[in-house]
Amino acid sequence: MNDVKRLIDKLYSTHSLTVSEYEEILRNITEEDRQYLKSLAREVREKHYGKDVYIRGLIEVSNICKNDCYYCGIRAGNHSCDRYRLTDDEILLCCDEGYRLGFRTFVMQGGEDSSFTDDRLCGLIGAVKEKYPDCAVTLSLGERSRESYKKLKEAGIDRYLLRHETADKEHYQKLHPENISWDNRMECLRNLKDLGYQVGCGFMVGSPYQTTEMLAGELKFIEEFKPHMCGIGPFIPHAKTKFRDFPPGDINMTLTLLSLIRLIAPKVLLPATTALGTLKSGGREEGILCGANVVMPNLSPKSVRKKYMLYDNKLSDGEESAQAVESLKARIKSIGYEIVTKRGDCIEKCI
Ligand code: SAH
Repeated sequence: MNDVKRLIDKLYSTHSLTVSEYEEILRNITEEDRQYLKSLAREVREKHYGKDVYIRGLIEVSNICKNDCYYCGIRAGNHSCDRYRLTDDEILLCCDEGYRLGFRTFVMQGGEDSSFTDDRLCGLIGAVKEKYPDCAVTLSLGERSRESYKKLKEAGIDRYLLRHETADKEHYQKLHPENISWDNRMECLRNLKDLGYQVGCGFMVGSPYQTTEMLAGELKFIEEFKPHMCGIGPFIPHAKTKFRDFPPGDINMTLTLLSLIRLIAPKVLLPATTALGTLKSGGREEGILCGANVVMPNLSPKSVRKKYMLYDNKLSDGEESAQAVESLKARIKSIGYEIVTKRGDCIEKCI
C-alpha cells in the first residue's frame, strides 16, 4: 500500500491528520488513490445519511454590499453591478413557491446590506416560521455583532452560513481590503457556534495566492473548528474584480477536498456547490459521488437571478433553479441517490 492510501486509511479511522500529512495527500494523490478516497467517502456518507440528498432553497435577498472583497462580483466597488434588494413580501413569495416544490429549508443569502436590520429580519423570520413551522431557516448575511446573532437566534433562525474564506490570516488580507479582518470573521464564527446555531464555514478552492500548504491548513481548520456544514467550491474569476485574470480553481482538487472533509467530519452537511456546477457540467453530481449530501438550487425571483453574479457565468437557471427540481431529482436518481423533502438537520452530535 502506498503512503497516500495509508494516510487516507488513517484519516478514515481517526478523523485526524497533521497538516504535513494532509499536504502529502494533496501533493501526491494519484487517480487511483482518488477513486479509493471517493469510495471511502461514499461509504461514510451512506452510513450516516444513506442515499438522502438534502435540498435548500437559496433566496438571494440582496446584492447590495458595503464590503469590497477582491474576489466577489457584487463587491461595493463594482459600479457596473445592477443592484437590487427584495422586499419581505417577495421573500415570502419565494418561500411559498419553495414549500410547494418540496423545500423544507430556506437560505437567505446576500451582501452586507444595512437594510437588513435586526428588527426587519426578526419580523421576516417570524412570518416564515409562522407559515412554515416545519421548515428550517438559514441566514448567510455576513458579519454581524454577537448581539445581533443572539436576537436572530431567539427569533428562530436555525442555521448560519459564514465561510471563513481562508484559514490563513495573511492570505485573508490578500483577498480583502484592510477594513475587513480575519480575526473578526473568526470571532463571528465562534459567536455563532456559542449561541447554538448550526454553523457553516467554508473556503474557496484555488483562490488567488492559495498554496497547497494552505489547503492542508484548511483541512486542519475544519478538523478543529468542527462546523455542522462546510461550503467549498472553486474560485471563479469575475471580470469586474482585480482578480479577473487569475485562473479558476481546480475541479479535481475540489472533489478531493470534499471527500477528505467527509472523512474528517463524517456527519457534516456538505453541499455540492453552484460554483462546482458552473465550472463543469455535471460537477454537482460528481460532488455528490465524492461524499457531498446537499444541493442548494436557486429560489430567487427570476428577475433578479442574473444580478447576483458572484463570479462570471454563475448558473442561475436551468438545472440550477428550484423550479427545475423535478429534473434535478431525476439526475440525482440516475447516480443512485435521492432528493428528499426533509429539513435535513445535521445529525445530533454532528462531529
Ligand atoms: N455576504 C455573505 C455572503 C457572501 S456570497 C458573506 O459574507 O458571507 C457567498 C460566498 O460566495 C462567499 O462566502 C464566497 O466564498 C463565495 N464567492 C464569492 N465570490 C466568489 C468567486 N469569485 N468565486 C467563487 N466563489 C465566490
